[in-house]
This record gives sequence, C-alpha cells and structure tokens, in this order.
Amino acid sequence: MTMLAEVLQRDRVFDFTLPPPDFSAAPDTRHGPILYLEDVTVSFDGFRALDQLSLYIDDGELRCIIGPNGAGKTTMMDVITGRTRPDSGSAWFGSRIDLLRLSETEIARGGIGRKFQTPTVFPHHSVAENLELAMAADKRVWPTLFARMDSADRDRLAEVLALIGLASLERQAAGELSHGQKQWLEIGMLLMQNPRVLLVDEPVAGMSQQEMEQTGVLLQRLAGHHSVIVVEHDMAFVRSIARRVTVLHQGSMLAEGSMDEVQNDPRVVEVYLGE
Ligand code: ADP
Ligand code: MG
Repeated sequence: MTMLAEVLQRDRVFDFTLPPPDFSAAPDTRHGPILYLEDVTVSFDGFRALDQLSLYIDDGELRCIIGPNGAGKTTMMDVITGRTRPDSGSAWFGSRIDLLRLSETEIARGGIGRKFQTPTVFPHHSVAENLELAMAADKRVWPTLFARMDSADRDRLAEVLALIGLASLERQAAGELSHGQKQWLEIGMLLMQNPRVLLVDEPVAGMSQQEMEQTGVLLQRLAGHHSVIVVEHDMAFVRSIARRVTVLHQGSMLAEGSMDEVQNDPRVVEVYLGE
C-alpha cells in the first residue's frame, strides 16, 4: 500500500473496499419530487428536534432552508443522509428508494452528497489530485490511484475545475488555498461523484464578500444539474440566490415560498425578532 493509500484508509475518508454504486437503483422522479420527507419526527430524550416535518424537493431545484438556531436544520440533513433515524415518518429518494432502509454510506454512494461546514481536503495534495481522489472513491481505481483516468474522467475533472473556479490553481497544494477556495474544492470533490442531491450546510460561513458572491454563482450553476439544498444563516446571501425558501421552526415547517413571501410572513418575522 502506498503511504497515501494508508492515510486514506486510516482516516476512513473513502472506503475503497465498497462496491461501486448501484445505478440500477437510481431515484425515479418521473412522477414527482426527488426527495420526500413526510411527517418526520425525531426525538432526543423526549424533545422533538423534528416534529412531523414534511418537505418535498424537486429534481434540479435549488432550495434554501432557513430558521433560527435549534430549528432542526441539521437534524433534517442527518435524517436525509441516514445519520439519524426518525422515530416516525418516511424519507424517500425519488418514488422508489426508501432512505430509511439504507445506511449512511449507501445513501452517500447512491447519490446524496453532503458538504459539512469544515472543509476536509487533503492539504498536501494538489487541487486536481483532491478531485481525482474523490472520483477514485467512486470508481475503485484503488489501489492504482490516478492510473485509470480515461478521457471522460479527464473531461469531468476539467469541467469541475472550471465550475469551482480553481482551474488556474489545479497544481497548488490544497492546504495553501484560502478558506473559501477550500470550500469550493470540497464542493468539487462531491461533484466528482455526480450526486443527484447536494446538501450544503452554511456554505458561506467565514467567507469574504467576494467569495460569498462566487459561491452564490456556483450554487446557482449547479441547480438544474443537481438538486441543491442550502442551509444558511446569512440572510443577504440567501436573498441573493433564493428561489424557493423553507423556514423551519421548532422542528416543523413554518413557511415556504419566495424570499419576499417568507420574509413578509408575520409568523416568520416574529420568530426572527425573538432571536
Ligand atoms: P439547527 O441546525 O437548526 O440549529 P439542530 O437540528 O442542530 O438545529 O437541533 C435541533 C434541536 O435538537 C436543538 O434544540 C438541539 O439542541 C437538539 N439536538 C440536536 N441533536 C441532538 C442530540 N444528538 N441530542 C440531543 N439534542 C439534540
Ligand atoms: Mg445546524
């Protein structure tokens, strides 16, 4: 095993021993949304972090989820990604795939990618190598990392590099990137695995104004090709990218609509003034 391989294995960044994703299990969206949460309740010691939450995300949609601290946003993502099992309710990926029957790993490999707040790039590897590694995780080029990139792979790599705005930095070590650039690289790493749904938790936290604007452009570009769910506190940012917005409060949906609609909703105003 190469040293890189050992590190990857040890840190369990990618589990190369897993079989490749099963594309026969692709989500069926012919008759409706790509993601359905219905009446989902999650309790922690009797406290309802999610309280009969229902949420529907269309294929290719860009959805922003806002809500005060403790509203249940992260718990909702945990349910979708299989990290937390609800006490009751259902969660479907398209009309055929029951997410509650899949493990966290199966969900990730089945096409629901999640970007956590802290970027986890490989600092000593270049931007391009980070993307290659992410693709390798999906294609079992292990243990001959990088050896089997075909021309379609190289096209995809170039496409993602351009999309995340890091084409001119492809040979730079990821550890030398700015905070914002690392966040884009990590989004790029998720994209290398071609997720149908991308969950992004607070993408602009700690970013400069310019980085925020570029992140907005990136997320908007991804919509249509992927369904993108963005949880974000920064209202100016949400306004700049928002199409449909869902407001969570006390584990349930308080309001849904355009940014103007939800911001003018008296119930939403009350919840935010109380913060
Ligand atoms: P948000 O992301 O909207 O800030 P969370 O989903 O993190 O909200 O949390 C919703 C509520 O559930 C909060 O009151 C939080 O304290 C509680 N909670 C979340 N995870 C746990 C846990 N593992 N154990 C106990 N309480 C939790
Ligand atoms: Mg949270």
